[in-house]
Amino acid sequence: LSALLEHEQDLPSRTPDGHDVRLLVNTGLAVDAMASLKSRIGGVGLYRTEVPFMITERFPGEQEQTRLYREQLEGFAPLPVVMRTLDIGGDKDLPYFPIEEANPFLGWRGIRVTLDHPEVLMVQLRAMLRASQGLDNLQILLPMITNVDEVDDALRLLERAIRELGEDGVEVARPQVGAMIEVPATLYQLDALAERVDFFSVGSNDLTQYLLAVDRNNPRVADLYDACHPAVLSAMARLAREATALKVPISVCGELAADPAGALLLMGMGFDALSMNAPSLPKVRAAIRRVSLTSAQTLVEDALAESSPLGVRRCLEVSMSDWQ
Ligand code: PEP
Ligand code: MG
Repeated sequence: LSALLEHEQDLPSRTPDGHDVRLLVNTGLAVDAMASLKSRIGGVGLYRTEVPFMITERFPGEQEQTRLYREQLEGFAPLPVVMRTLDIGGDKDLPYFPIEEANPFLGWRGIRVTLDHPEVLMVQLRAMLRASQGLDNLQILLPMITNVDEVDDALRLLERAIRELGEDGVEVARPQVGAMIEVPATLYQLDALAERVDFFSVGSNDLTQYLLAVDRNNPRVADLYDACHPAVLSAMARLAREATALKVPISVCGELAADPAGALLLMGMGFDALSMNAPSLPKVRAAIRRVSLTSAQTLVEDALAESSPLGVRRCLEVSMSDWQ
């Protein structure tokens, strides 16, 4: 089976009825192996900058970060690379920046940390901008956005970084900026966010955790953690619909996009870009190449008509076995 899938990897991620889905990759390290994917993907949908930060002994300086980011941007150019600003806290701790909290997933995480430490964010933004010079394929993504003020504050810092670099004689283009949609509150503020950002990226891992009030890493409640909960699916469908109406590009970069049945559901809902870890690309591409957009839309209707996660799973299993 895998040899068969491998054979398809240079073919477009297009359904039998001619609908294209942009497949993007999630990265963190190992740019060399990733760059060989270039001809098969539409770009990097999520570069998790905290990953390289986890293996250093202190915050990498501006020069070191510039080198790291340049490697990603150059490796994938001219394809777009979405770089997410540092998303620490929750389950991701830096050894040299410990965060002790009773409820880390509800605490000091992502943009909350970096707006409280603008000096950290500024170094990161300056390094990303420097690294993008002459390439123009950088896009910046803000994690854990809960309200529009956080976006405004981050955008102000970005403007400052561009101005400072200009004063140093480094002219850089303003990159597109996007917001992660992973805190349920943002579901109800898409229009206000759309006035501020250029794109949305749905973090289905955290969105599931926060919609269901289930810690994504706690084995005791692992049975309850399910992106196929009807409420999660209905939130996802709503996001695709609203972002499309607002004419703001929207993609999904959580694990749901890396699962063939999940990817087909998302495609049927109207998401036309899915970002996933590289090993998931072959099976997702194969699923897209076998199932028409209209069948995926029917699958979405059927799944959304179910009221329990188990019902959704059954419905997916029936369709997937028909399609294999
Ligand atoms: C997510 O929350 O779905 C996501 C893609 O980000 P992370 O898994 O890094 O929190
Ligand atoms: Mg997340």
